[in-house]
Amino acid sequence: MIDEHEHPATLRPSQSSSQKTEFDFIDSLRQRVASTSDSLIAGIGDDAAVFRGSAGKETVITADLLVEDIDFRRTTTPPYLLGHKALAVSLSDIAAMGARPLWSLISIGVPEDVWQTDFVERLYDGLLNLANRYGVQLIGGDTSRTHENIVIDSVVMGECAAGTAVMRSGAGAGDQIFVTGSLGAAAAGLRLIERGAHLAEQNLGDEDSQKLDHILLRQLRPEPRVGWGIVLGEERLATAMIDLSDGLSSDLNRLCTAGSVGALIDSALLPIDNYVAEMCGRRALDPLQLALHGGEDFELLFTVRSKDVPRLPRRVDGVEIKRIGEITAAHEGVKISEGTRIWDLRPGGWKHF
Ligand code: ADP
Ligand code: MG
Repeated sequence: MIDEHEHPATLRPSQSSSQKTEFDFIDSLRQRVASTSDSLIAGIGDDAAVFRGSAGKETVITADLLVEDIDFRRTTTPPYLLGHKALAVSLSDIAAMGARPLWSLISIGVPEDVWQTDFVERLYDGLLNLANRYGVQLIGGDTSRTHENIVIDSVVMGECAAGTAVMRSGAGAGDQIFVTGSLGAAAAGLRLIERGAHLAEQNLGDEDSQKLDHILLRQLRPEPRVGWGIVLGEERLATAMIDLSDGLSSDLNRLCTAGSVGALIDSALLPIDNYVAEMCGRRALDPLQLALHGGEDFELLFTVRSKDVPRLPRRVDGVEIKRIGEITAAHEGVKISEGTRIWDLRPGGWKHF
């Protein structure tokens, strides 16, 4: 056992008493996330968290890593939105399993200069704001130092009724293919940020900057389709599901490979984001390409048996869905029609390596 008072250099190298320690930080976090849940037996503050699982339920768990300069840039992503996004990407994975998110563990590694600012506090502001919206409880994590780059690891646990998790592999020929929300804006936002666009100051108000903000926020502040995930899982509506993190072309191919099926989607049915269609023409970006191959829309792509289609709600949490095509036999391949022509839809989305 190390006594921190006897060995200050071991635990708190070169810090004056006015600077925050990780202990202060964790303690302030602990106070902010005081739990009201009966199922939580121990949250932040012990060596590990303890919660009681529900009878008849299965636990669904996912991890996502955000690395500075690979997955985000410090200069273009406000810390509040980075915190939001770190949790959002994991909530999206839980939604894609048809499960309800419950618990979150967040680990951060930051360099000294970032630690000395209010960056991590703002990051947790954004993260906890999103967590509260969906009743997700922060129950732990880890805090460490890096040499240069910020790293955030987000783990989310959720649950679904036993045997009802929606896999990528469950699609059958004849199932209808649906997508939530709209496509293309997150990728358009990334392209525009790379060209120097940034969020307008609040209430700047003119129409064009509002449209630009809408597109940039689809990249910087993705909204996980938590409500749709729960409905599709609990009502056993989806036969297969995946969230659109890497782009429709890549993720549809994954779903088809997993289920040993083919697909035919119709480009005219794709719910391309209205503002992308409007703004990108002027900037020589092709909305259809962005919708097909652009990543990070974090919409849900799912399949439904034809007989179950009438049971689908029109919207959940204000978000609509759109039918974009149909599952076919494996030998038909993964295809897209454009008018009378039909093309192979090859995976063209994001890859890390
Ligand atoms: P240990 O050394 O045993 O890992 P820590 O001092 O790192 O303990 O963590 C103490 C408590 O604070 C634990 O409950 C842990 O889950 C929580 N915790 C630490 N860092 C974070 C963080 N960045 N976000 C949320 N909880 C954290
Ligand atoms: Mg630790």
